[in-house]
Amino acid sequence: MKVVVVGGGIIGCATAYELARAGCAVTLLERATPGAEASGAAAGLLALLGESSETAFARLARASWRLYPDVVRELQERTGIDVEYVTRGTIYPMSASQTRRDAEVWAVNKELGVEVVDGQDVQALEPALSPKISHAIFVKGDHWLNNQRLVLAYAQAAVAAGVELHTACNVSRVVVEGGRARAVVAEGERVEGDAVLLAAGAWTSELVRSLGMRLPVEPRRGQMIALTHAPPVLTHCVHGEAYLVPRPSGELLIGATVERAGFQRAVTAEGIAGLLRAAIELAPSLRDLPIARTWCGFRPWAPDGLPILGPWPGIEGLWVSTAHFRNGILLAPITARLMTEWITEGNPGMDVKDFLPDRFGAG
Ligand SMILES: Cc1cc2nc3c(=O)[nH]c(=O)nc-3n(C[C@H](O)[C@H](O)[C@H](O)COP(=O)(O)OP(=O)(O)OC[C@H]3O[C@@H](n4cnc5c(N)ncnc54)[C@H](O)[C@@H]3O)c2cc1C
Repeated sequence: MKVVVVGGGIIGCATAYELARAGCAVTLLERATPGAEASGAAAGLLALLGESSETAFARLARASWRLYPDVVRELQERTGIDVEYVTRGTIYPMSASQTRRDAEVWAVNKELGVEVVDGQDVQALEPALSPKISHAIFVKGDHWLNNQRLVLAYAQAAVAAGVELHTACNVSRVVVEGGRARAVVAEGERVEGDAVLLAAGAWTSELVRSLGMRLPVEPRRGQMIALTHAPPVLTHCVHGEAYLVPRPSGELLIGATVERAGFQRAVTAEGIAGLLRAAIELAPSLRDLPIARTWCGFRPWAPDGLPILGPWPGIEGLWVSTAHFRNGILLAPITARLMTEWITEGNPGMDVKDFLPDRFGAG
């Protein structure tokens, strides 16, 4: 089966890789470079957070989280890329009453190793945190990784598995003939496939519009800061009003705003000021660290906050995988696998009805 994948973010790269491993001939078309947009801009947290309830989304998130150790090992074996996957745990400062409430909910996920800690223990765990923090939940099993490297690892593994990757290749429209998606037009040329998968992140709605149809996916801007983390101040991830992510490569990330700002590619005074204020409140000694870089990215968002996965209604062979919003890095491994099973075998192997494209009356 020939599959054309549009978009070389984490979702497109991971799915192209899995499709190739399942025996498909895959062409992956990316208008910039792999990870150029949201997937490169992310913080790389694989946090299940409050995802302990029994919703379809919680099950999807948990399934992906569990795949990660093997995915990381496999990608390292195939590409040699170390994606800086670490498990040092995350501290969530909060009020005493909230701590009790959330700890009970989160404890359902036994693998997370959830513990309630009070002021003294917080200081013992992470001496740089503000003494004003009186209570926190410590999630020992939380992981994070370097998402820029992860996208590159998936892209390289995909190419090694036979995927034909075209960068600097803009797709202008999908070609539908006789009720079937037959091809896309990329840089003026027709690229044929038995199936077309749209994984163009926040831009997926533009491609759907090329068919005269509507997909209500919009960008939600996220601004981020990296501090030069030398001397290192934190060992754990800390998740309060802002999150703080110490990376083995020597940066401390501070994130992230969630803004409705269209595709305005700007890091703003208000965005950065808010993040710095929240970060310094959590760990006062951060005020002395140099700012290494700032950036922003566009999370693909749907009105109900859930991913949009599956066949496009009424057009044979057209598939969509987008709107992973704040969780695309976490959800990439499971999304790639279920979309591959769905496209190649006709069954996603999971309960996906909450994620179907036709839930917005699409088409
Ligand atoms: C600041 C920030 C922090 C985040 N932190 C986390 C986190 O810690 N953990 C987590 O799980 N998630 C996080 N996310 C969310 C995550 O980054 C996204 O959900 C995920 O990257 C979406 O992946 P994607 O492949 O769908 O989209 P993108 O990464 O945006 O990829 C889409 C790709 O399609 C390409 N494209 C678009 N249109 C076309 C076209 N016409 N032709 C060809 N190519 C096209 C683009 O160039 C782009 O490379 C964060 C996001 C942001 C912005």
